Amino acid sequence: MSVPSLSQLIEIGKQAIDKCSDALNEVSQQIWNEPELAFEEKNAHFVLTSFFESQGFQVSKQTPLETSFIAKYGPDDGVKVGVMCEYDALPGIGHACGHNLIAEAGAAAAIGLKAILEANPSIKAQVVAFGTPAEEGGGGKIDMIEKGCFDDMDFCMMSHPTPFDSVIFQCLATCQLKVVYHGKEAHAAACPWVAKNALDAAVQCYNNASMLRQQMLPSCRIHGVILDGGVKPNIIPQRSELHWYIRGPKASIRDELKERFLGCVHGAASATGCTVEVDVLDKPYSDIKEAPTLNSLYKKHAESLGVVFPDLEKLPIKDMAASTDMGNVSYVKPSIHPIFRIGDVMNHTLEFTKAAGLPEAQGPTLKSGKAMMMVAIEVLTSDTLLKKIKEEFLSTS
Ligand SMILES: [Zn+2]
Ligand SMILES: [Zn+2]
Repeated sequence: MSVPSLSQLIEIGKQAIDKCSDALNEVSQQIWNEPELAFEEKNAHFVLTSFFESQGFQVSKQTPLETSFIAKYGPDDGVKVGVMCEYDALPGIGHACGHNLIAEAGAAAAIGLKAILEANPSIKAQVVAFGTPAEEGGGGKIDMIEKGCFDDMDFCMMSHPTPFDSVIFQCLATCQLKVVYHGKEAHAAACPWVAKNALDAAVQCYNNASMLRQQMLPSCRIHGVILDGGVKPNIIPQRSELHWYIRGPKASIRDELKERFLGCVHGAASATGCTVEVDVLDKPYSDIKEAPTLNSLYKKHAESLGVVFPDLEKLPIKDMAASTDMGNVSYVKPSIHPIFRIGDVMNHTLEFTKAAGLPEAQGPTLKSGKAMMMVAIEVLTSDTLLKKIKEEFLSTS
């Protein structure tokens, strides 16, 4: 029997995804209709693990976390391709980051690859769909990295809905800090001079950070909120609490900025006579380590499906950036994190929540799933690409 060409293999995968499109949409809708927060994604876990079981994958539920899973198809001794399915939502505004569509695109890629591998057992490969909870805080993928989930993977892929198409998404390394000031309460009219005002410390901290912003790289971000600023105007607050995100284009730049920010925090304590405690709120997320060969393959295949990548320099949102725990995966294994357009609205808004549940989102989501499948099958059938991808990974920091 002759070995099918790459285009014939791709056709098998595309047809499998198209055949499954109603079921994939149903998966996405079931997740969208029941938004669940980080590490509470029981419904999404059930919906996706049931789907992968019904599609003939070997599914390890609640592995290694309560709401994560690992679904495999193919021999253990083959090249291993990891595909991510995210599914957590945001507080109050549901699936405003469209993670239901990330799950769907990942599942589509996995279904397409399985169909190709099933029809061509001579391609020794395993497709592994990872159910990765808690991206919007919590860092589910970081827990999964620590448990060794991705150790066997040769490369990993995921794609994310946004207001524009791009192979590269500017992702910043981030860390989250909790700052608590302790002062001394007093009657604000009777004897304010005996107080140490923790709200003043919080305000000073905020203002110090605002000044620091002027002297940091334009690609860095600092943002904070005051969560506790006292209880009553006539009691000088003895406690205040702020939460901060510190972000930079690389983990090393973020860490430098964090040190400068801590100067702002302690300066405010000195100025007000308060004491301060600083705690890390969440696991730090890394920037995304680029995988040029995988990225160019994604671009080529997405374009073949009709995706038009705009010149980002010409877009008003060219400096848009966020953070993802996929960044941490990208430092463990060669990875891609392209983004696909589902409309003109921005992530983390109610308008985006609506867009992520509309039928119009289906076309771009399945195209992205197909493009990931096409990337993988081209790598799996090439004598040179995987070696090149691994060399690139090792030669970049
Ligand atoms: Zn988000
Ligand atoms: Zn997101």
